Amino acid sequence: MVRVLWAIVLACCLGIGASQLRAGEPNTSFDRGSRELGAVCDPGATLSDDERGILLNKLRISTSGRAVLDDFVRQYGSFTNLLVQWDTVSYSQVVSVPQQPGRSPAGESLLGNGVCVHLTRKLPEIEHVADLAHELTHATRLSFKVLHGEVADVAEFVRARLTARGGEADAFSVECKVKHELLGRWDEFCSPYGTLSAADSFDTVQVIKDFYNGRLSASLTGETYPVMLARQYKAMLAKRARVQYATNPYAGK
Ligand SMILES: [Zn+2]
Repeated sequence: MVRVLWAIVLACCLGIGASQLRAGEPNTSFDRGSRELGAVCDPGATLSDDERGILLNKLRISTSGRAVLDDFVRQYGSFTNLLVQWDTVSYSQVVSVPQQPGRSPAGESLLGNGVCVHLTRKLPEIEHVADLAHELTHATRLSFKVLHGEVADVAEFVRARLTARGGEADAFSVECKVKHELLGRWDEFCSPYGTLSAADSFDTVQVIKDFYNGRLSASLTGETYPVMLARQYKAMLAKRARVQYATNPYAGK
């Protein structure tokens, strides 16, 4: 049986929008998702290989999406190490499973060797593609310390998870750029931050301000990002304390 070494819930997603994807390039076939990942990811309805392939191909049409997919292969070896599941909320997990010799190519990621992306099932399809881009940005760009909450305090954790490479502002920026490249315009959710029509102009400074002031919130919980992240940090500390206690019940007495 596959043993979970560790799994970290990454983050929630933003995003409500509309419209159709532009017709794209010929489809690419992606490696099938590993069954072993299904045993370690949180429960969810795993997308069929066809469903997953459609989303990955749509993502691949955009320049920003293709960059994220290239990063994924560099970090995790191959798409065998990506499982995508329908869920009630979008988030991702980086997991570590024992590598079978000669099976999944190993990537260079220090975070883990597999990624589970949970996607909110909603219409239209472009929101699934955008959420996938958002979650893969977290999984490929966050540093080990920021992912694990190895920071001085809760304020530093919130700041890092909002502003660091692979943090919420970065993931939101990628999500919006992917939509812009596929739709040919900023959607209503991203347009306040698209300062120019070009996809490479995006005001992440304002995004960060709006995370802090609550104008941009975690849409499904309605919480502001700082509140949600502070709760996540406390849960991480509590879990760490429990592990420490189990390892050495006399520690700190
Ligand atoms: Zn996120």
